[in-house]
Amino acid sequence: MKFKRRDRSDSPDGPDAEVLVDAETSGSDSQGGKYGQSGVMAAQGKTPETGGSALKVARTASTVTDLPPGQDESHFPVFAGPTGADSDGATSEPSGGNGSATGGQAKDVAVSSSGVGPKTHHRLGELLVRLSLVTEAQVEDALVQQKESGGRLGEVLVDMGVLGERGLVDALAEFYAMPVADLRRDNPDPEALALIPEEIARQYLAIPIRLDEDGLHVAVEEPSDELRFLLAEKSGHTVRLEIAPVNDVRWAIDQSYRAMAGVDKLVQAFEAVEGARRRTSETTATEVVAEDAPVVQVVARILTQAKRDRASDVHIEPSQDIVRVRFRIDGALKEVLQLPVVMGVGLVSRIKIMAGMNIVERRRPQDGQLTTEIDGKDTDVRVATAATIFGEKCVLRILDKNRSVLRLHDLGMPEDTHGTYSKLVRAPFGMVLCAGPTGSGKTTTLYATLTEVSDATRNVMTIEDPVEFIFPSINQIQTNEQAGLTFATGLKSILRQDPDVILVGEIRDVETARIAVQSALTGHFVLSSLHATDSVSALHRFLDMGIESFLIASSVIAIVGQRLVRRICPACKTSYMPTEEERTFYEESGGPEKSTFYHGGGCNFCGNTGYQDRIGVYELLQMTPEIKRLIVGWATQDELHRLAQKQGMRTLRQEAINLVSLDVTTIAEVIRSIYAL
Ligand SMILES: [Zn+2]
Repeated sequence: MKFKRRDRSDSPDGPDAEVLVDAETSGSDSQGGKYGQSGVMAAQGKTPETGGSALKVARTASTVTDLPPGQDESHFPVFAGPTGADSDGATSEPSGGNGSATGGQAKDVAVSSSGVGPKTHHRLGELLVRLSLVTEAQVEDALVQQKESGGRLGEVLVDMGVLGERGLVDALAEFYAMPVADLRRDNPDPEALALIPEEIARQYLAIPIRLDEDGLHVAVEEPSDELRFLLAEKSGHTVRLEIAPVNDVRWAIDQSYRAMAGVDKLVQAFEAVEGARRRTSETTATEVVAEDAPVVQVVARILTQAKRDRASDVHIEPSQDIVRVRFRIDGALKEVLQLPVVMGVGLVSRIKIMAGMNIVERRRPQDGQLTTEIDGKDTDVRVATAATIFGEKCVLRILDKNRSVLRLHDLGMPEDTHGTYSKLVRAPFGMVLCAGPTGSGKTTTLYATLTEVSDATRNVMTIEDPVEFIFPSINQIQTNEQAGLTFATGLKSILRQDPDVILVGEIRDVETARIAVQSALTGHFVLSSLHATDSVSALHRFLDMGIESFLIASSVIAIVGQRLVRRICPACKTSYMPTEEERTFYEESGGPEKSTFYHGGGCNFCGNTGYQDRIGVYELLQMTPEIKRLIVGWATQDELHRLAQKQGMRTLRQEAINLVSLDVTTIAEVIRSIYAL
């Protein structure tokens, strides 16, 4: 039984779009009031009403059970299924047949693709319940949440944590009767990629995978006829849609449409000019200033790619025969590009000009900073050069000031540790230190702490090198060696500014340490970081610097020792047998009984490392009266450790092993990050 109805009035094309609805499949809808024609409702003997109650969901379920999803396929040999599109999960009129639907229909479908409405979701929800992936109550909760926040039902369920991305994709695949694309294993074919421009891929979240006799296979997060038509039009091929998780699609697009893809041509252009000119190492200003100059373009592309790859640093390193470009991602360097050695001088000169550095000076190390637009967002980059025997090497640190400062709990600090820490950092005066090696996330912890302690009643001032994130309501100062502004002199000037909270980026020398300790003792709350392996060794570091033990005991409130460990890549997480050694380490570290261990087997997503992203590991040493007594008595690190643990401190090792027991990271990673220093 077919009804012609107006589409939902909140769909992008407005109420003009008409969709033919198969009443049997349209199910109950919580948006009854929005229908131009209430005939659908009436025909089903349902009253238009709002709100998706449990009862309603259940009712929908019973309605829909009559129609297995496979039935859609029989209606539609080609794009089987409710065409994403249909805001209400209704099936389009099959007259279009094999994708040769009339223009009008294509438009209708277009309408709904972006405004997928609740009916599809009811049916999808019902399918998910039937597959025992979620419960009806969860679907009901998700529908309520969806009403508030929007989004698709599947996504909401994934966000709620009740459904895995994988489970959702499998269910969607069954729902639409389409294959699942495995972007984790299969690399998109260059031939296929060439058929869909990058902007289209990004706009519609569609990644072409391969071209064969059946047509162009494109992985999408949510299929629709409209998208299929559009992609067919753009590529000039029949399009076969496959389903993949949205994050996989985004990732594959970033990986496949590399910003650096065109670098080869730029290098050729550069070499052609260079060959004609036959010059040696001198680079003219125009070559590194003109926007279209190959060198300028190459620098822009390297930076764009670095940011897309979430790289923290870019290394441009000349060697005898090539210039190597490496990115640091999740703490590890990865080579991404090799350029001809003749380009080296031009690249570094271009970067130095951008960073306001002296391009004539090539022997002395220099520092600079630049701001450039990457993918539409201003990005700050800190530049440092150093002359190696093969020429100037350049390291660019990408400071993503637009990223949000994470809360400590989001960084992986356990709830109880966070609770204690929050109380400690609200002390009116005293010092809290973060300890860890370079790249252990100290700055992130300091910033997250600042957000907890700063409010309108306090004057918060910082002295940093570099300022990695700009807070709107905090007075931040950047050190400047050339201008004589060091941590020590900066800290002195801050003390004359009537501060309440002072952040000293890092304590590197005795002078800074002394002023910081004095500030903490004279009514200021001081936050800082120390380069040390853990909390206890940070105390000894202070003592070694020559700060009197009683001053340390009376100024320091707490020390957070920390590390970042890599998380197991969720895309290739699989169980494995740890070695005898690993098992012993796990048990000796106090890991709870565990029969199955996980690691990443390696896939496209993690560059075959088996890891993706990192999580913080923290140990919190509180300066109890007993610990203070030990410090004043110059106790050994062992003695301090023993007492701290007796008083309830969980060590970095214990915390990291806990992450292994929760399958977040691996034993090998814990050994590497906490013991291989
Ligand atoms: Zn992986």
